Amino acid sequence: TGSPLSGRVAVVTGASSGIGEATAERLAALGASVALLARRADRLDAAVARITDRGGTAVAVPTDVTDRNAVDRAAAVVRERYGTVNLVHANAGVQLVSAVHDLAVADWDAQIDLNIRGVMYTVQAFVRDLETAATAGGPADLIFTSSIAGSRVLERYQVYAGTKAYVSHLARQLRTELGPARVRVSAVEPGMVDTEFTDHVADADVARLRADLVKRIEVLQAEDVAEAVAFVASVPRHVNVAAVTILPTEQV
Ligand code: NDP
Repeated sequence: TGSPLSGRVAVVTGASSGIGEATAERLAALGASVALLARRADRLDAAVARITDRGGTAVAVPTDVTDRNAVDRAAAVVRERYGTVNLVHANAGVQLVSAVHDLAVADWDAQIDLNIRGVMYTVQAFVRDLETAATAGGPADLIFTSSIAGSRVLERYQVYAGTKAYVSHLARQLRTELGPARVRVSAVEPGMVDTEFTDHVADADVARLRADLVKRIEVLQAEDVAEAVAFVASVPRHVNVAAVTILPTEQV
């Protein structure tokens, strides 16, 4: 068909809410077959129902991406269902900011486990699919959700910002290995997006700052970021939009 993403087999992690959910819906609307990964099966099922009601193709694969074996099992399910994966949106992430002297070590670990380890487990599960797809002559995309936090200096964000700096640099690093194999690697770096994300922010002051910003300016919606991901995956195959910073116009 003439849909820009028809023939694409996409995996989106963190697809039960926010940016991932919106991206799964957008990719499906553009013709991709989409596997939605996250832990909350009920939320994934609801998103899949919305997609299929509109004539799209999608499957819910409940997965904790911090569990390497679970990610591998999910990859097998997707391959069995749709074939070789040629679009991966490694998006699941969490922000648990706190002052360093609070020693919120469990929160540090949770961010490292999901934002770094979960991302690497996603990469290891799908990188060979992406190479296979590229070798076969089709497009192949590995797209990360990073954050502007990865390049800013923000009080109390030490570990979160560190994980996002990791993700942005990981994208640059992987290009050196995957670009020559014609696999595109991209980092999408959003500013403030109005999602459930704010509800998980542990630090009360930071949560208040985020809530105030949402009231004061028109922040991004998840759909705005989804559109950027869809764009990155839709450009001609020789074009790699390697990094996209997407900000609310009024956010400085
Ligand atoms: P949400 O909290 O709405 O989405 C986070 C998603 O990650 C959910 O679907 C959640 O689902 C999933 N998730 C959490 N833990 C796991 C896990 N162990 N395994 C699999 N999935 C998991 O927030 P956003 O949509 O805003 O966040 C998406 C990405 O965007 C994150 O990487 C975040 O860092 C980044 N980002 C967000 C910004 C913002 O302002 N909102 C700004 C810049 C970047 P479930 O709980 O069902 O597993």
